[in-house]
Amino acid sequence: MVTLTDARAVAETVTDPELPMLTLADLGVLREVSESGGTVVVTITPTYTGCPAMDTMRDDLVHALHDAGYDDVEVRTVLHPPWSSDWITEEGRRKLAEAGISPPGTAPRNDGPIPLTLAPPVSHAVRCPHCGAAETEELSRFSATACKSLRRCRTCAEPFEHVKEI
Ligand SMILES: [Zn+2]
Repeated sequence: MVTLTDARAVAETVTDPELPMLTLADLGVLREVSESGGTVVVTITPTYTGCPAMDTMRDDLVHALHDAGYDDVEVRTVLHPPWSSDWITEEGRRKLAEAGISPPGTAPRNDGPIPLTLAPPVSHAVRCPHCGAAETEELSRFSATACKSLRRCRTCAEPFEHVKEI
């Protein structure tokens, strides 16, 4: 007999297509696994609206649960409250750093009106994931995926990716 706890455990093993070292649980994308009339209902919140990885996440969840013996699976997307990089777990941050990607700092709070400026957002001090130096610079606001920027360490000169704060 399969239980909801097992279904949750299966859903927690599914990894992010763009950050494959992280599971959807590490990312905070996996919100809830529940059961409704014999159907396993997985609720997810995308990292940002229009994330091209969303369809892949959805398919991967359905396939993983089908393989585990759950025939009826529904993936629901919830956009509110919006995902924040603050939802990445401590475990997720550790895995990012181990993969040479600097984890996000504390996200800015977007309550109320959001000022629009032409200047890039002021970044907090981002440490180099290779040598730990604090002196790093942004080379590009976007790297291989839209959720990461490309930076370089001024001490060891190694380039690295940084998961942006949103
Ligand atoms: Zn460095």
